[in-house]
Amino acid sequence: MSSQSKIPVGVLGATGSVGQKFIELLSNHPWFQVTEVAASEKSAGKLYKDAVNWILSTPLPDDVAGLKVKECEPYLESRLVFSGLDSSVAGGIEEAFAKKGYYVVSNSKNHRMDKDVPLLVPEINADHLKLVKAQSYNGGCIVTNPNCSTIGMVLALKPLQDNFGLEAVNVVTMQALSGAGYPGVASLDIVDNVIPFISGEEPKLETEPLKILGRFDGDKIINNEIKISAQCNRVAVLDGHTECVQVKLKKKASIEEIKKAWKNFSAEPQKLNLPTAPLRPIYYFEEDRYPQPRIHRNLDKGMAVSIGRLREDPIFDYKFVVLSHNTNRGAAGGALLCAELMKAEGYI
Ligand code: NAP
Repeated sequence: MSSQSKIPVGVLGATGSVGQKFIELLSNHPWFQVTEVAASEKSAGKLYKDAVNWILSTPLPDDVAGLKVKECEPYLESRLVFSGLDSSVAGGIEEAFAKKGYYVVSNSKNHRMDKDVPLLVPEINADHLKLVKAQSYNGGCIVTNPNCSTIGMVLALKPLQDNFGLEAVNVVTMQALSGAGYPGVASLDIVDNVIPFISGEEPKLETEPLKILGRFDGDKIINNEIKISAQCNRVAVLDGHTECVQVKLKKKASIEEIKKAWKNFSAEPQKLNLPTAPLRPIYYFEEDRYPQPRIHRNLDKGMAVSIGRLREDPIFDYKFVVLSHNTNRGAAGGALLCAELMKAEGYI
């Protein structure tokens, strides 16, 4: 697609850590082009390069650096907007955009559990996109991306649920600093330390998977009934959430059958060859010391999950370790994949 025929997109909350990741991932995107950026009153009116404290290791794209930051009011020219807004303001702003006919693809928690809003992981529940037809937003819509830890975990759980059924899940996370936005956790709190609490995180991990792994009955989502218990910790890693997961299955399975289910897992985004889709959503590592955030977080464009250490569990049936990139797969990359699916399926 030439740059003239690309779909123009706006980024709400463009100056934040997720917003910057959107700008990075959308640079040279084959279908979309960032033509507008918006943030708080504090940034509005400035050139993007002056408003943003660019923290990514790739250079700030020239074509975005010179854009003037707009206010997050529904008067943008781009009909498709990605939201990396702070959750204290995201709910109302996203709704105002949808009501004016915009397609809003959001990373924020505010609308995730709304009955008519898809909580989308394109490899898992592409059919939930049909929910947007039930939204009464004047032609606009809101589609959401799950919490960053939820995404890694549900990608690992989906093949288990399809092949063996899931009864119960216990998860303990070790979550990266970038998940707390910028400047995030104070260095004096996290250096030489682990913080055993992340506000609001455990309830998200215990409820979002039930909707994602739920069934669309043509009208609404019937939630899955897996029992999930989560404990979340902040650790001194820059990017990449690691999760120790225990599962109880409905049907007996061998270690080899589980590994095979993960290795064979492929879905809609791979079939459609979506630009941001990983070639394989799941990589299993046999080495006892893997997966590790520094080594595996960028695997397959930072969009794949890495799994390792599958073994029997004396309380549950099995336990294993999952790793995924929290700002790529867990935020901007995941949302971009949702928008690509929407375009491929004619929603945009
Ligand atoms: P962040 O770095 O704090 O960025 C927040 C953004 O919201 C900034 O662009 C900020 O603009 C804008 N903003 C704040 N108040 C505003 C207002 N009143 N009006 C308009 N814009 C306003 O946060 P983040 O880490 O990128 O997270 C953004 C969202 O994504 C959050 O809801 C978070 O929970 C979710 N999320 C984050 C991650 C992650 O790994 N970081 C993963 C999944 C989901 P200014 O710079 O102008 O203040």
